[in-house]
Amino acid sequence: MSELAYKRTNVYEKADEKLLKEIFDYAEGYKVFLDEGKTEREACAFAKSEAIKNGYKPYKFGQKLVAGDKVYYDNRGKNLYLIKVGTKPVEEDGIRILASHIDSPRIDFKQVPLYETEGIAFAKTHYYGGIRKYQWATVPLALHGAVALKDGSVIDIKVGEDENDPVFYISDLLPHLAAKQNAKSLAEGIGGEDLNVWLGNLPYTLAENEKDRTVKENLLKILNEKYGMAEADFLSAELCVVPAYKAKDIGFDRALMGAYGHDDRVCSYPAFTALFDEPDGEHTVMVILADKEEIGSEGTTGMQCVLFTDLIDAIAQSFNVSSAAVRANSKCLSADVNAGYDPNFRDVCEPLNTAYISCGAGVTKFTGARGKGSSNDADAEFIGFLRKIFDENGVVWQTGEMGKVDAGGGGTVAKYIAKMNIDTIDIGVPVISMHSPFEVISKADLYEVYLAFRAFLK
Ligand code: MN
Ligand code: MN
Repeated sequence: MSELAYKRTNVYEKADEKLLKEIFDYAEGYKVFLDEGKTEREACAFAKSEAIKNGYKPYKFGQKLVAGDKVYYDNRGKNLYLIKVGTKPVEEDGIRILASHIDSPRIDFKQVPLYETEGIAFAKTHYYGGIRKYQWATVPLALHGAVALKDGSVIDIKVGEDENDPVFYISDLLPHLAAKQNAKSLAEGIGGEDLNVWLGNLPYTLAENEKDRTVKENLLKILNEKYGMAEADFLSAELCVVPAYKAKDIGFDRALMGAYGHDDRVCSYPAFTALFDEPDGEHTVMVILADKEEIGSEGTTGMQCVLFTDLIDAIAQSFNVSSAAVRANSKCLSADVNAGYDPNFRDVCEPLNTAYISCGAGVTKFTGARGKGSSNDADAEFIGFLRKIFDENGVVWQTGEMGKVDAGGGGTVAKYIAKMNIDTIDIGVPVISMHSPFEVISKADLYEVYLAFRAFLK
């Protein structure tokens, strides 16, 4: 082919034995993060403990930062900021920002969840983020979350992850009786109010003979003995129903990996490991693990919260420089996943402008829908800047849109950061079956994203 023509690179096709080993080894560390961090609370705690191991100290507003400082800001246990102060003047060099999110689509308990009907106890739920509801029925489910008890103490709940734990369940119809349901659209097959989680069926405990109880009363007794909870404690709880299985290699050759919540832990993990692995340097760096991206980046722990600019202001104040100047010179990679090309569903993609699995980090110039609507649409100059860095560091990358024109679309945190006068672009790992209970990625893409982040922070 002519040297003037552009062609994507498949990482696995060009990888030597050394690179292949690095790719596979790196994926093992990521699996631990996936299995231990299925909710934003758990992912935040995991990353925070890794930060502490790497010498990061808690940051308090008012504290003056100096070059060489490594600090973290834990926002309500659901959103983590990691900051490393570099040697260059921050008003000229800005901040190198990696912004990813640690919340994933799931199914949440309602505040009054428990009910019993015909001898079966259930929990009412309200789904979180964009899920295809029918995919979450007949899947083993775990319950993760936190309950604020009457006395003010907060307890953590995690059931369904240990080999000996029970799991939870959402039922579906048998094919023999599904004629009417089959005639519905996929979106209507299982409705929002049909996502009722099976919790129990025994009106007494095994340890006793008392049989004058209902299943729900018995359930409350079990919860009280195990957690000191009463039914009213659900009012002040955040309980998340997530798939109960662990991350697994996919295929005979183990090139791919399936897991719940690749979106967006597959970018969060490379973000904080790139920060820890890259030697201290000139740039001031901020790694963000945000919450609430899946529901619009709202609230105190979402990317739209002013905490983001408050922290930039605090860095600027430490050096008595203008926060506006710091932001104007900052650069951000919005580290989030994109749709990977799936040959089983090729009609939703335009083949030239799609991210292919195992072809490296996927850069997305614009997201949005219907004519780039609601997208930050990064500058050509900024892509040029990144292109140089990536190519100089041997990073395999590609560009891709979220589907073909007018097929649908999506958004990320990019536009909220760009709004602060910070050059921002989306980059991440292409994902197959995004937002399903078991998403698939290529280990090669995970590793190339990690290399891309290291090159950006260097
Ligand atoms: Mn995402
Ligand atoms: Mn998502």
